Amino acid sequence: MSSTRVLVLNSGSSSVKYQLLDMRDSSRLAVGLVERIGEETSRLKHTPLASGGESRERTGPIADHEAALKAVAEELANDGLGLDSPELAAIGHRVVHGGKLFTAPTVIDSAVLAEIERLIPVAPLHNPANLTGIRTAQALRPDLPQVAVFDTAFHTTMPESAARYAIDVKTADEHRIRRYGFHGTSHAYVSRATAKLLGKAPEDVNVIVLHLGNGASASAVRGGKCVDTSMGLTPLEGLVMGTRSGDMDPAVIFHLMRVGKMSTDEIDTLLNKKSGLIGLCGDNDMREIRRRIDEGDEEAQLAFDIYIHRLKKYIGAYYAVLGRVDAVAFTAGVGENAGPVREAAVAGLEELGLAVDGALNAVRGEEPRLISPAHARVAVAVVPTDEELEIATQTYALVGQ
Ligand code: ADP
Repeated sequence: MSSTRVLVLNSGSSSVKYQLLDMRDSSRLAVGLVERIGEETSRLKHTPLASGGESRERTGPIADHEAALKAVAEELANDGLGLDSPELAAIGHRVVHGGKLFTAPTVIDSAVLAEIERLIPVAPLHNPANLTGIRTAQALRPDLPQVAVFDTAFHTTMPESAARYAIDVKTADEHRIRRYGFHGTSHAYVSRATAKLLGKAPEDVNVIVLHLGNGASASAVRGGKCVDTSMGLTPLEGLVMGTRSGDMDPAVIFHLMRVGKMSTDEIDTLLNKKSGLIGLCGDNDMREIRRRIDEGDEEAQLAFDIYIHRLKKYIGAYYAVLGRVDAVAFTAGVGENAGPVREAAVAGLEELGLAVDGALNAVRGEEPRLISPAHARVAVAVVPTDEELEIATQTYALVGQ
């Protein structure tokens, strides 16, 4: 029997998202999520798509990632899709930080595990959870290839001029301080899908990808390779996000320490969890913000305007970085669903060849689609991202038979 299935695992600090795909046709056999791991109110939601079955839920304490993965394995086994199946070719893990070294998906061995561990100081929230997920999966199926697909890998093609901060080189090197970028799996997938939408090869197009989810990042992709991206050493840099500030004068931090008497951890929480849209108006969901704006709420309007102003600056910056732009692609929760964000982001950029067609922008759908007027110089597109499919595809390309 040939092994054509790939299990994709995305292990967060208190959650595990998973999808089981059949790579013969990229179909999803099962998808699910375990959340609130380590709490009394843990929840597992499992949907067996292959059998067209109803979603099943388990609630009650799931102590740790090991217990979570065992529960997932049981659910899959109940559908005849167990981890012991010979049809399972590999497990693909999302790993947030791969540093400078990991430029491509990598089969995990002890040296790879050690390097992911060495990167914990630059990804203290993410890499430990990713490691736990990998180790638990290895314990469940020690014979199976496990592949790490790094969020940073797509950005390792950035030239030094974009990847370096203008700080003392020795200090930067000593602490591995540079711009790594994140959401790389999405930027890779969406830039390629955008080329396909234009009927061109990725090598022949320059694309600005705007990944606007709760976390948000922009990238400039020239001929299929990333040349700049908005997130940096950590995901805090760049665009205004759901709960992160994005770009800011770093001296704000010294000011908060000296004058505000805030601790490092307090400032970390402020900038990562209590800033961005939620800090500006108390909501981080764009649907709620739009609803408030429709009711005349000025605070929500200002939050929206700040969000759009930053987004527009990045479109302009990456236009300049690329010189020639073939397409601007919107993706992720906000990018795929919020027409008013797309419209406002390119408003006034007609001189750059950028515009959206109101009717096309109002269309909703799952497929990649153009929203720019016919004959526009630059295509504006909505291109739904699919990070799990990309992880499965990269994993299978490496170890599939
Ligand atoms: P994450 O970064 O958590 O993966 P997603 O890409 O799923 O985030 O995006 C989640 C965000 O997408 C929500 O916080 C919300 O702001 C936005 N969103 C989702 N659906 C809509 C919608 N229909 N209209 C506007 N915004 C939406």
